[in-house]
Amino acid sequence: MRLSRYFLPLIKENPSEAQIVSHRLMLRAGMIRQSSAGIYSWLPLGFKVLKKVEAIVREEQDAAGAQELLMPTLQPAELWRESGRYEDYGKEMLRIKDRHERDMLYGPTNEELITDIFRGAIKSYRDLPKTLYHIQWKFRDEVRPRFGVMRGREFLMKDSYSFDIDAAGAKISYNKMFLAYLRSFARMGLRAIPMRADTGPIGGDLSHEFIILAETGESAVFCDPAWLEADILASAVDYDADLEPFFRKWTQLYAATDEKHDPAECAVPADKLVTARGIEVGHIFYFGTKYSQPMGATVAGPDGAQVAVEMGSYGIGVSRLVGAIIEASHDDAGIIWPASVAPFAVGLVNLRAADAKCVAACDALYAKLQAAGFDTLYDDREESPGAKFAAMDLIGLPWQIVIGPRGVAAGTVELKNRATGERAELSADAALQKLGAAA
Ligand code: ATP
Ligand code: MG
Repeated sequence: MRLSRYFLPLIKENPSEAQIVSHRLMLRAGMIRQSSAGIYSWLPLGFKVLKKVEAIVREEQDAAGAQELLMPTLQPAELWRESGRYEDYGKEMLRIKDRHERDMLYGPTNEELITDIFRGAIKSYRDLPKTLYHIQWKFRDEVRPRFGVMRGREFLMKDSYSFDIDAAGAKISYNKMFLAYLRSFARMGLRAIPMRADTGPIGGDLSHEFIILAETGESAVFCDPAWLEADILASAVDYDADLEPFFRKWTQLYAATDEKHDPAECAVPADKLVTARGIEVGHIFYFGTKYSQPMGATVAGPDGAQVAVEMGSYGIGVSRLVGAIIEASHDDAGIIWPASVAPFAVGLVNLRAADAKCVAACDALYAKLQAAGFDTLYDDREESPGAKFAAMDLIGLPWQIVIGPRGVAAGTVELKNRATGERAELSADAALQKLGAAA
């Protein structure tokens, strides 16, 4: 993509409405624009990252055996009256009447709707287990929408729902999601720590919040320092294996939010314990028959008796993750994208767009980069070198290749790694090779 043609409205000054770094950088890098409080448009650069995050989540969900469908954003109130949540949900739920005066709502989550789909289709234990998911916009009329996409009112969530015949089956489904979550976040360059979470009024059930450490996080957290070294992707992946040992291994290490933190239960000495702030990027929940019971989602068991199915639900904040990744990976100059979610792999900078030789060298390398499969943002604008460097650092592509008159004369380009700041002068072909080796 040529930057001269790209829709990338960069902002030089820090926007005064943004209190945290990810919000500031997303506005400045032309990724999002607010349309009303907590509701955003995703501009081309931001939308590319959102799609990459979504793709990683989808790949791990599919690998774990979950099946994707798509439920609507608008739901009928009747289903929520069946579960008893229509009255309970309070002002966070956006309620709407259609022209026939029917009560509708913009879904804040989908337990009721998926349970309705399930009960209409599945009648026998033989058709279990099933895990279904979708990636869809949600609306929650948060009291205080803030921090950009981190706490929005409209936000993109991946939500999965598992259905099993008994509690043992439900734990297997839970463990698969536990693994899928750890892998998804690790693939985005994040260290997300599963922490025992409150299970709310039903109690007794199992729930983990996945939390990444960041200064601007909304909750205080405590964890074993071993978490800071953990390498999730080093473990072999077999979603069909017995995942209980994996689950135990990663839940043995102490980790708790302040609500759950209990110094009496914490084996880590106080001076070793990591005390930090965290951002919740995912939440998994086993809640048994909370919805299947009142909504009559039953199947015939092996002995013919009707059994209410055991359910779990599993959410990932896809749009929040874009902000969370920036919170975890930036410097004073801007964003530092992990390669897996970067909007482009490479930024190619022509230092002198008025110089025919520079243009020829850049155009040639641009063609080669595209042919080799590197999604490239080519800064072909007539701007000062300083402005170009600042723009590239701000948008944070993993690699920058800079071509100027001096390099053209010497037959070299400058290759810069955004994360390490390391620079090397080498031939265009050697630069291509180095990118290939790093990919
Ligand atoms: P929080 O405690 O942050 O309000 P929650 O516990 O209400 O979140 P869940 O119902 O567990 O959220 O939703 C699943 C995931 O959706 C969360 O882990 C989070 O990543 C994301 N999410 C929830 N609310 C928002 C929001 N207002 N804006 C952006 N993402 C959100
Ligand atoms: Mg939660």
